[in-house]
Amino acid sequence: MGRLVNFCAGVQIQIFPSRHLNAVLINVPDDACSESAIKNTRRMLNAARPIAVMMDSGGFQLHMGELLEKKISFDENKPLIRNETEINIAPVHVMEAAAIIRPDIVVGLDFPIKKISEPSEQRLEFMRKLGFNLVWTKKCFELKKKLCPDVKFFVPIQCYDLDQLDLFNSMIAGVEYDGFSMPVRNLNVKGIILFMIRFYQIGIRQVHILGTSKIRVIAITAYMARHFFDWVSFDATTWRKFAQYSEYINPHNLLNERIAPDVKIDASIPMDCECPFCQGKTFTFIKNLPQTDRTAFLRAHNWWVIEKATRDLYQNASNVISLERCLRARGVESRAVDDLCEALSLADSLKDTDIRVIQGLFG
Ligand SMILES: [Zn+2]
Repeated sequence: MGRLVNFCAGVQIQIFPSRHLNAVLINVPDDACSESAIKNTRRMLNAARPIAVMMDSGGFQLHMGELLEKKISFDENKPLIRNETEINIAPVHVMEAAAIIRPDIVVGLDFPIKKISEPSEQRLEFMRKLGFNLVWTKKCFELKKKLCPDVKFFVPIQCYDLDQLDLFNSMIAGVEYDGFSMPVRNLNVKGIILFMIRFYQIGIRQVHILGTSKIRVIAITAYMARHFFDWVSFDATTWRKFAQYSEYINPHNLLNERIAPDVKIDASIPMDCECPFCQGKTFTFIKNLPQTDRTAFLRAHNWWVIEKATRDLYQNASNVISLERCLRARGVESRAVDDLCEALSLADSLKDTDIRVIQGLFG
């Protein structure tokens, strides 16, 4: 039985959702782009006292830079640059930052693939990024060995399908890594499970899922941590982003609902959140808080309910029936629970079968 870890991402010392954080995810462009940023990150980590620190490379910031048409460069002889109009990042910036901050895990630099649904365009986008991703993975590995050999190294996976995963994996032969890190923005529930089965089949035992706290994804990670891997983690900034927009995360199904002065709230709806912040409060109380107080309140509540859901789902992931019961009791949409549980049952019984057979059954 492996571990399931929820990494708190987007933390700053001024905005802690909780006094102590078990696991914190930082990233190179935001948290290590200058001496003052590194000093602040150190202060934040000293205050949070996390058991695990993961450092993401900056692929996401590169992805956003590309979408916003910023000037992008990969010059290792220039400093790391990240501002409103420009981003410059190279493997050496990532591994030098890891050597200074010494996280438990560092993710290699990647150039993320865009969210595209048309298969021929996906192939083009995959090929466009493949060269960067291969060269950077190899370079990051070489630098990590030299600069921070004790830090665990996760390889980022930027693929739309299993053929691309197999191609990428065969081409990084020789690179020694501890696990894979994967964004799931291009995948549905079955797609995520299929990729995770393939990871398991090729011998991966540690996996990080990037940037999500949807209950279905947490359920998958919980099940996968208990039955397939030694370590599964995920991270999200949703606790913070939702709070910023007065969005309250429903403690049961983790869907967000806006609670702000302009929203009409039925005063008869009882407050059924068990978190320490909501105790003795009403939705009207939250709605009428001054904005700064409401944002701080929601950050704390949102983080607490994601952590609680993570623990609950993990505890109930001993088998699919118990996980299903837990998801239904939490009011997760019935069809979604059916799909998820069917896919997990198939994954469990067929995990050592040819992946193409499983793919065929997943439809
Ligand atoms: Zn609450």
